[in-house]
Parts: sequence; C-alpha cells; structure tokens
Amino acid sequence: MGVGIDISERKKIENELIKAKEKAEFENQLQYTFIQNISHEVRTPMNSILGFTELLHNMLTGKKEIEFLDAISYNGKQLLRLIDDILDFSRLDKKELSLHKEEVCINCLINNLKNQMTGLKKTHNKQHLKTIYNTQAKKHKEIMIYTDSNRLQQVLMNLLSNAVKYTEEGHVELGYKIRKDKNDILFYVKDTGIGIEKEYHDRIFQRFNPIYRTGKTHLRGTGLGLVICTHLVELLGGKIWFESEPGKGSEFYFTHPYSEVSSLSINKTEEINEKDYSMPDLKGKNILIAEDDEFSMKMMIQMIDGTNANIHSATTGTEALEMFKNNNIDLIFLDIRLPGMDGYEVIKKLRRADIRVPVIAQTASALQQDMDKIRLAGFDYHAAKPVSQNELFSILNK
Ligand code: ADP
Repeated sequence: MGVGIDISERKKIENELIKAKEKAEFENQLQYTFIQNISHEVRTPMNSILGFTELLHNMLTGKKEIEFLDAISYNGKQLLRLIDDILDFSRLDKKELSLHKEEVCINCLINNLKNQMTGLKKTHNKQHLKTIYNTQAKKHKEIMIYTDSNRLQQVLMNLLSNAVKYTEEGHVELGYKIRKDKNDILFYVKDTGIGIEKEYHDRIFQRFNPIYRTGKTHLRGTGLGLVICTHLVELLGGKIWFESEPGKGSEFYFTHPYSEVSSLSINKTEEINEKDYSMPDLKGKNILIAEDDEFSMKMMIQMIDGTNANIHSATTGTEALEMFKNNNIDLIFLDIRLPGMDGYEVIKKLRRADIRVPVIAQTASALQQDMDKIRLAGFDYHAAKPVSQNELFSILNK
C-alpha cells in the first residue's frame, strides 16, 4: 500500500490552508480597523478635554488651579501618545506604515523640537535641565535632507522625551553630524541621567519588554517607544544603537541616509517656519463651523470667540452647505466625519461649483493615508484634533 497522499486529498489540504490564511488575514484587518476606530473615538473626547483645559488655563490665575490644569493636560497628552503608539505599532507590525518623503531643512526641524522641548521640560518639572543643541550650518544655505519630516521628528522626540524622563540633573543634548564618507547623517541624543544597567541592554529594543526599575514607579512606561523608533529608523534607511553607563547617562545614536539634494536660502526657510499665534481681528467676517460633536463645537466657538468674527454652526454636511448658501461665509472649519454627507463630499460639492472659500479640515484621525486624502480633496489646511488655540490662530492669521 502506498504512503503518499492522493491528488484529491492534497487538493483538500491546500483548500483548507488557503481558507485558514484568508481567515487570518481577515481577522488581522478587523483587529487593525478596531484599533483605528478606538484611536478616533479616544481622540474626539480628548479634543474637548485638552481644548477646554487650555481655555481654562487662559482664564484662571491661581497657582493651584494652574497646577491642576497642567496635570490634566499632561496626562491627556500621555494618553494620546499611548494611542498613537499602539496605532503605529500595529501598522509597523503589519508593514503597513509608509513614509512621505520630501526635502526637509534639518535646522528648521530641530527648531521645532526646541519649542516642544520647552513644554516637555515644563511638564516633567525639569526646567533646571540644560538643553544643548549642536547644529551645523552652511554659509547662507540650510542643510536639506530627503526624509519623512513627521517620522524623523517622532524618533527624535521619543529619544528626547526619554532623556528628559530619565535625567534628574545635568543636561540633555541633541545634535547631528554629516558624514560625507558614509553618505549619512549621524543623529544623537545624549543625557546625564540614570543610565541603563548592562543586564537590560539586550532588552531595550525588544517589544513588550519595558524595564521596571524597583522603587521608581513614576518611570513606568509601555516599552513601545524604542521599538517604534527602531522600526522607523530602519524604514528611513538607518540604524539605531546606544551606549550607556548606570549613574552617568545614555547616548542614543541613529543614522539617516544623506546626499546633498538641494539647498534653500535662509530667508525662504524662515518664511516657511514662521507662525503667528496672535489673536486675529476678524470683525465682520463670517466663519462656519461644521462639527457633529457637541463639545468640540462648543470648544471651537469659545476658542475663536475673541476674534469678533460672526460664527455660524452646522452639525451635518447638508446643513453646512445650506448655511454656506444663505450666509456670506469667508471661511469654513469642516469636520471630516459628519453624519450623512461627510466632509469629503461637502468639499467636493463646493469645489465642483468652483467655490474657492478657504476650508480647513478637522479630523480626529492620526493616519497618514487620511492626511493624504485630505490634501488631495482640496482643503486649504488641516487641523488635527486635539486642536489648540495657538494652532487655530496661526491658521486664521494665514
Ligand atoms: P518606555 O519609556 O515607554 O517604557 P521605551 O521603549 O521608550 O519605553 O524605553 C524602554 C526602556 O528603556 C525604558 O523603560 C527605560 O527603562 C529605558 N530607557 C530608554 N531611554 C532611556 C534613557 N535615556 N535613560 C535611561 N533609561 C532609558
């Protein structure tokens, strides 16, 4: 008697394997969609929590009140970061994260990080930490690299945030070196913090493996940050590593490919980087806000109330178009996920009718593919939730 499997038996096994693979893929997709929805559903209420906190911050003066508001704001932002990390992680894991590269001026990117660092030190109560920035400049030119600006900033911010978190005294240093012989840039973030014990060195870049140092519960984390950094650095074409000595500090390094793509004149770059956060005077102007979330609507109205603009509100896409027709609208804030006719359909209708009124997309999505879709749909700007008053003023001033 033969021991081989006959053809019909083999076909049956093959079919079963194909079915099992399809089922696994379907479940994977379901899980990802679920995480995406959770992210959106957390961002929407968070938009109101952080927005109203910012508004109260501007209204209250008591030291204790400000301290409590700072605590709400800090913890809210932590929660958002966690949600973003989980979303990134699930996409990286499925190799679904794509990069959006463009020419980026490194020093502008670092200037951006400087602003964020001021806030970061404040929230960690570490204003006493010195921050050192080592940047290079070509005469009258900015150094440009071809990269995904958001992702590169995310890596650097993650490393900086760890450096601040794990350093009590001394300094945090951020810098880069162009290595022409290697065709790359070496970025580094150094600190004079608690350092990392040798026994943990192998675990640092491993997933689901945070290091809990006994007696230091305030230093807890998910252990996702460096895993995401590693994936992103590799996706950007580089490598990441670190050196550290307990009690002395840590130095994180990563490389990024570099070739002299082009240079912008300094003036032009400054123009790109400039943001005007002052409250604009919009007396006589009509602003339409289309938003279905009651609290987000209230918050937006409150945030731009002082500009003296006439504010009109709509809770559906159809209502927004109706309002637009009946009022002399100068600018629209348009939420993407509106019931019935969504934000994409509304802008499509406006642009098809050749109506060029400035429209600002608002979304609680953190996905790059949604950002691309927004750009292509014809919106003038995009304000991602949670939106801050500064950001709104900067958009309105433009
Ligand atoms: P998280 O900080 O959220 O736990 P990370 O992946 O960013 O996750 O970091 C993993 C671990 O590496 C941290 O738990 C921490 O113990 C250690 N670590 C990272 N950066 C530093 C640093 N600059 N100094 C000391 N320890 C660090």
